[in-house]
Amino acid sequence: MKKGFILLVIFLLVGCESILTNAPNANDAKNKDGQEANADSATRSDNHSDENDSNIETQTIHVTAEQVTRGNLVLVNKEHPLDEGAVPTDIVKLFQEQDLMNGYVLLDNTIRLSRSVALQFREMVEAAGEDGVHHFMISSGYRDTEEQEVLYREKGSDYALPPGYSEHNLGLSMDIGSTQMSIDQAPEGKWLQKHAWEFGFILRYPPDKTEITGIQYEPWHFRYVGLPHSMIMNDLGLTLEEYLDYLKNSSSYKTTVEGKKYEITYVPVTTKDIALEIPVGSEYEVSGNNIDGVIVTVNLSQDDGE
Ligand SMILES: [Zn+2]
Repeated sequence: MKKGFILLVIFLLVGCESILTNAPNANDAKNKDGQEANADSATRSDNHSDENDSNIETQTIHVTAEQVTRGNLVLVNKEHPLDEGAVPTDIVKLFQEQDLMNGYVLLDNTIRLSRSVALQFREMVEAAGEDGVHHFMISSGYRDTEEQEVLYREKGSDYALPPGYSEHNLGLSMDIGSTQMSIDQAPEGKWLQKHAWEFGFILRYPPDKTEITGIQYEPWHFRYVGLPHSMIMNDLGLTLEEYLDYLKNSSSYKTTVEGKKYEITYVPVTTKDIALEIPVGSEYEVSGNNIDGVIVTVNLSQDDGE
């Protein structure tokens, strides 16, 4: 099976031996608009040969040990507390940001969230509105460690996690309600279960994965991970824990979303600074897993001149 481009380079650079070879088939590729053209582009990407890959002009990017704890894919749970520096710098009080407050209400005026995540949320509720689903409410967003401490002390360990171990401390998660009824009964909840991935969000604690997440089913708790990751997790039915494991045990994963081709590769970070080669001019994103490495997501669309 063809190995991914980044993978080849990593082998050259760090002589990594820990990557297995169950890369998923390019037929998994899918586009949220369901356009036929995507099947074509997936096939084209299949036809690239390793020989061609090695002829691609590359640029060097550097990954530092600090990046293991930063980014949209960091895992925060009972085993993996967040690093203090992991909180995005764009946390805002939503009620003060009128441009973000369209199509939903807040439980109270203290609710904070990463501004860029709130923009995605706004886009999502606007799309829901076009489907006739209108009654969204955010009941909780970012909590700093002091707020989490108070919650933990007052509510106890059955209800809350200790400071640093809750995704709410990260700024990328929120509890979403309906103003009409409980979210598991509401059209808002049903719409989110179906469409949240299209906007980069995942239902973080699904009912059939409580043993893996360690958290009971929470139909209200959504986490931003971004595309294409939310699409892959939705397609394969993976929690964040499982997805990060899956990437670690795969060679690179290729997929197409919204006409863009992505290659996603787990890279172990064993030294302070790692140099990686990616196709020159490619858009890319690096996120830590908050365990032992980073996930490098490269947009390969430029390859085909698309
Ligand atoms: Zn929550």
